[in-house]
Amino acid sequence: MGLADIQARVRAAERAAGRAEGSVRLIAVSKVQPPERVEAVLAEGHRVFGENYVQEAAGKWPAWRERFGLVELHMIGPLQTNKAKLAVDLFDAIHTLDRPSLAQKLASLGQARGALPQLFVQVNTGEEPQKAGVLPADLAGFLKDCRAMDLSPVGLMCIPPEDQDATPHFAMLAQMAADHGLTGLSMGMSSDFETAIAHGATHIRVGSAIFGARSYAPRA
Ligand SMILES: *Cc1c(COP(=O)(O)O)cnc(C)c1O
Repeated sequence: MGLADIQARVRAAERAAGRAEGSVRLIAVSKVQPPERVEAVLAEGHRVFGENYVQEAAGKWPAWRERFGLVELHMIGPLQTNKAKLAVDLFDAIHTLDRPSLAQKLASLGQARGALPQLFVQVNTGEEPQKAGVLPADLAGFLKDCRAMDLSPVGLMCIPPEDQDATPHFAMLAQMAADHGLTGLSMGMSSDFETAIAHGATHIRVGSAIFGARSYAPRA
């Protein structure tokens, strides 16, 4: 447990998979963690973080960026269209592009600003009705629509069903990314990031294994 331990496990998983050292980006998921835990990880030199809630992130990160310098921020939670502008101004990457209305909104923000964060399309690999994400069968059409709007997603993201082995979901996401010529793969959390790395993850999202258990459960 802790940053150094997770970094060592990431290196070992990269080696075991025959992948280059540093090919996996470790996103430290700091949502709802007490500030002192996040500051400790910043003080250790880590500069890549993930957040789920735009408002929460906007309240914390500007001051930390002033104090600690350049920090790469990833939005990994569901993004409401009316928070898209704030998100685009704050984050370097958005992992949860999951519907046409959000794509439209991001496209118009991109036109106004000339640039956008990196975008990942969230895929609902488990086809769970309560979960966000494009259904696998709709992915090709969604990507086509995104490109027609001048959006260029760099990769895919998934959150496998909690009660299942994540392995087939990671394999499916990797296959879909390859089919569509996308190089980014955002998959793997505290309990399964090594499996995700074995299946080609380029971005892993690790919270509790770095910071300790969250004091309250995240809103889904
Ligand atoms: C909270 C969260 C994580 C981190 O989960 P841990 O199990 O604490 O590592 C990763 N991805 C998403 C989308 C999350 O919401």
